[in-house]
Amino acid sequence: DALVPGRPRPRRVGIMGGTFDPIHHGHLVAGSEVAHLFHLDEVVFVPTGQPWQKDCSKVTPAEHRYLMTVIATAENPQFRVSRIEVDRAGPTYTIDTLREMRSIYGPDVELFFITGADALGAILSWRNVDELFELAHFVGCNRPGHRLTDTGLPDGKVSLVEIPALAISSTECRERVRKGEPIWYLVPDGIVRYINKTGLYLDDGMAFGAD
Ligand code: ATP
Ligand code: MG
Repeated sequence: DALVPGRPRPRRVGIMGGTFDPIHHGHLVAGSEVAHLFHLDEVVFVPTGQPWQKDCSKVTPAEHRYLMTVIATAENPQFRVSRIEVDRAGPTYTIDTLREMRSIYGPDVELFFITGADALGAILSWRNVDELFELAHFVGCNRPGHRLTDTGLPDGKVSLVEIPALAISSTECRERVRKGEPIWYLVPDGIVRYINKTGLYLDDGMAFGAD
């Protein structure tokens, strides 16, 4: 992308998709590191709507996950949250999200789709892989317990980056809450308080508040 003198460089926007059930510091560090490494102007967190790869019944209602994502990112001026998938009827496909982002931001913006090592591996099995790579540059981040390899990745479409490793997963956070174990410092303080306030992730917990 040669810079034309006098013309501003294209806007660079990161997209971090996820279930965010709940959002944790692994997600936030990935967004922050990739923003720094790729000189992104902003990172948009996109919580999934109705899940298709995960068992629907086990995923927290989208409105809770959306609100937690807003709470966790609110203090960072570079971070935004999109309702694009939460508001879309039917199953979530990243290709639809990237197409919609492309039409919102216009043809000149450079899109960077940020994933952890596990998610990057799954992408190669997705439909429309070729169009995905046309719509955005993909950035794969290392994640403890998952191998990040460049075998099978198309040339120049994917960057693999090394970020500070945080062995945190949403699954483990949910299990810790259910067992009465602390999740302080695994997730932002506001997320601990939101989970306590709503009763999310408790066995008997009919979580209230957002739906
Ligand atoms: P779950 O255990 O419910 O699958 P998760 O912790 O994997 O939750 P997701 O919402 O599934 O979180 O992940 C969203 C994105 O963030 C994916 O691309 C995933 O690879 C990445 N990611 C999640 N946790 C980390 C982490 N600790 N380090 C780096 N990337 C991460
Ligand atoms: Mg996951």
